Amino acid sequence: MTDLIDCAQQAEQERLARLLAGRPAPPAPRAKPADGAPLCCEQCADPIAPARLRVHPGARLCIECQQRAERQAAIFAGHR
Ligand SMILES: [Zn+2]
Repeated sequence: MTDLIDCAQQAEQERLARLLAGRPAPPAPRAKPADGAPLCCEQCADPIAPARLRVHPGARLCIECQQRAERQAAIFAGHR
């Protein structure tokens, strides 16, 4: 839970920092974490495990959401 709050606080702080710097906000509302900061899952906003990001550097879903998506894809594939 602490990690989840950290993720939300980090995104908010980056947004405020940009506002204070007078720079326009980026087109995408999703904040790009700095190196070493936890990336958050696009579906549940949980931090994505660093070990997972080492294997899949472009991963945007946590392992739970990724597995759920793959199960659903397999179900849809089976109906063809
Ligand atoms: Zn997730």
